[in-house]
Amino acid sequence: MNGDTKEKLKSLIKGNVSFDVPLAQYTSLGVGGRADALAFPQDEEDLREILQFAKERDIPYYVLGRGTNVIVRDGGLRGIVISLCRGFRRVRIIGREDDEVLVSAGAGVNLKDLVRFTGERNLTGLEAFTGIPGTVGGALAMNAGAFGSEMRDVVRSVAMMKETGSVTVKQREELRFDYRNLVLPKGSIILRGVLGVGEAKGEEIAAKVKSFQRLRFESQPWNVPTAGSIFKNPEGAPAGQLIDELGLKGYRIGAARISEKHGNFIVNEGDATAAEVLDLMAFIRDEVYGKRGIRLTPEVHIIGEE
Ligand SMILES: Cc1cc2nc3c(=O)[nH]c(=O)nc-3n(C[C@H](O)[C@H](O)[C@H](O)COP(=O)(O)OP(=O)(O)OC[C@H]3O[C@@H](n4cnc5c(N)ncnc54)[C@H](O)[C@@H]3O)c2cc1C
Repeated sequence: MNGDTKEKLKSLIKGNVSFDVPLAQYTSLGVGGRADALAFPQDEEDLREILQFAKERDIPYYVLGRGTNVIVRDGGLRGIVISLCRGFRRVRIIGREDDEVLVSAGAGVNLKDLVRFTGERNLTGLEAFTGIPGTVGGALAMNAGAFGSEMRDVVRSVAMMKETGSVTVKQREELRFDYRNLVLPKGSIILRGVLGVGEAKGEEIAAKVKSFQRLRFESQPWNVPTAGSIFKNPEGAPAGQLIDELGLKGYRIGAARISEKHGNFIVNEGDATAAEVLDLMAFIRDEVYGKRGIRLTPEVHIIGEE
């Protein structure tokens, strides 16, 4: 990105823009190279400016949430990385429909803050998302789920900005969710989602949150750098169970190690490279295919250049 492009981009929006940014610091696994630019639009107007600028100059862009399901390759990312984590953080109750309360949440809101917001107001339905460390935007885009609930069960509508800068709101019936994926028009960025929740006693909600937290702490590595589940669960058996049955837990390449606690998590022991993580993933896929005949596909999004 040349000096003129950098100057123009910086002066274009109210939010912050940084250049040559190490993306390892913006992803939970903590590997990978640098982004040419990282922009934090403050509002829709800022975001529209960025998208139009990117289109005019033919610059690629990529939207990042908390980076908790993303692996950035070691060569980093060309173009503009857009984060809504500073500007799009509003949560509010917008009304009622039948026996549901409708909660609107900005794409940059952390799921844990959303669960806290609803819990404090005796609103139930989001407790299972406790402990998923991403944002509302990332959770909608990934159709995140846990303990039998997925985002598709609670979403009522999603507002998104297309690459042209126009905003559309899609109702639940118009959205196509798959396993860990929401099908979005190319280049679209989720701005906010409306979720439908019920009402319950505060103690019941708190008890559910606590029990989901306990199950998570017991079964997953916590407070260490990971990118969540590396592979999607194939038909028949969870990916973690297949990896465990093949005795692969603890296997490492460089500083990337298969978690002893959960076979479908790769832990960065400190200074792992993306190449080590990706080699470890290739090793797991080969082992599982060779010994069980099952093809694993990544759940994590792998982005950037070698
Ligand atoms: C310890 C740990 C536990 C986890 N447990 C779970 C779990 O139980 N269940 C589960 O489903 N996941 C889990 N994850 C994975 C991850 O937290 C979820 O997928 C989460 O929803 C990703 O949100 P994010 O904001 O980090 O998105 P990112 O990882 O930053 O992005 C994920 C994808 O969403 C896209 N995206 C992000 N924001 C937007 C937006 N505004 N508009 C359009 N696209 C967008 C990105 O481009 C990318 O393709 C876990 C991860 C970790 C590290």
